[in-house]
Amino acid sequence: MTEEHDVTHEKPETTFRTDASEALFRRSGDSLVEGGSSPSRGPATYGAHPIFMREASGSRVVDVDGNEYVDWMMAYGCLPLGHAHPAVTAAVREAAGTGAHFATATEVELDVAERIRALVPGVEKVRFANTGTESMMAVLRLVRGYTGRPRFIKFEGHYHGWYDDYLANAHPRPPASLGHRRDPVKVAESSGLGRHALDDTVVVPWNDLEAVERALANQPGRIAAVVTEGIMANMGVIPPEPGYLEGLRKLTRAHDVLLVLDETVTGFRIGRGGCQARYAVEADLVSFGKGLGAGLPVAAFGGRADILEALAWGGVLHYGTQNGSRIGLYAARANLEALSAEGGAAVEHAWTIGESLRDGLQEALDEAGVPARVQGVGPMLQVLFTEADAIRDYRDYCAHVDAERYRRFALALFGRGVYTTPSAALHWMASAAHTREDVDRTLEAVREVLREGVFLK
Ligand code: PMP
Repeated sequence: MTEEHDVTHEKPETTFRTDASEALFRRSGDSLVEGGSSPSRGPATYGAHPIFMREASGSRVVDVDGNEYVDWMMAYGCLPLGHAHPAVTAAVREAAGTGAHFATATEVELDVAERIRALVPGVEKVRFANTGTESMMAVLRLVRGYTGRPRFIKFEGHYHGWYDDYLANAHPRPPASLGHRRDPVKVAESSGLGRHALDDTVVVPWNDLEAVERALANQPGRIAAVVTEGIMANMGVIPPEPGYLEGLRKLTRAHDVLLVLDETVTGFRIGRGGCQARYAVEADLVSFGKGLGAGLPVAAFGGRADILEALAWGGVLHYGTQNGSRIGLYAARANLEALSAEGGAAVEHAWTIGESLRDGLQEALDEAGVPARVQGVGPMLQVLFTEADAIRDYRDYCAHVDAERYRRFALALFGRGVYTTPSAALHWMASAAHTREDVDRTLEAVREVLREGVFLK
């Protein structure tokens, strides 16, 4: 992308046109559902129509109308190094040019597994999958198979992919429908689930150790694992309370229950060792997705060797024609190498950018007198329009966050060259490719949107 492309964001909103996106969306109506392959990419998130993107490089993405944006979505977090990082691009080319799949073991699989072991505490063995959903499906079968117990604890507002057994209490809903926090109403998030899929899913509020203790004590010998995100990343960004993850570790040990950390979002982003390193907690199993494959579909789970060994010979069955994709693993190897270079400078840079963006956003909102909290951890952050002083769990989010105001705010930013998620339940992501200039442009755009105030309604 050259400098001469880099003009659209400076034009006033009236010249922001998305006619080509709109035309593609109309065309897609005959062959696709909601214009793409997931509801989160369609009108449910974007309003009238999604923006169709054409190409990207570093921190910038260009749509089919030629508008250029500073991209804070970063492919839902798949791109810790930014778009089209040269080392990743070269690795993908090399793999694609020498064969995509050999129906047998490959050395690159071993290389990436060794890197993950070296970076992530407690990972003794690794198994590759393709997506966060698949990896977490396999983990659930594994904890059940290994312990011989049927149930698991899943927290309110956490999302672990679209597998039936996890698909409870993952979306925001009206506070009055949630039930008492000691006994949350269990709500399926989809039609078409297996009729008994959620029978063994125990739903508990997060950031509340007493609630976990109660659930564990109530069902002795029935619970295989506590499954948690390390930082809540599907209700904006909600950090764990100090000592919470360590507390979960103590409780799970005391009750002889496994601890599973879903690092699909946080892995290789919050630090090279993920939440385990940051919060000094050691999970029995950990699952990775997004940030591992640098935009290619690569996921992995790993942990204690004695647990992973239960997969051997299909005892706990996990197959997959596409597991350990050679092209994907070439990308993952280049990605982990780049993230590890110079003592992890890339990760540190993303932290610095994320923190200055977070501070700048909060300052701009405060100056404008718009009640909001910008919550985040390092490179992950979200603007939560709320009167509350902090959002600490799912129930706070449901009661106090104005998601519609946020959507209008994010969509107004599109017109000023800033691309971020229009969903308040997701988050902004800083990458190694973002610059101080990206932050300044973004804050300028935010100040304009705040001055105009249309999103406030
Ligand atoms: N776990 C978490 C914490 C996630 O945020 C997601 C996706 N947003 C998943 C699992 C599922 O990953 P995927 O979309 O790759 O299936």
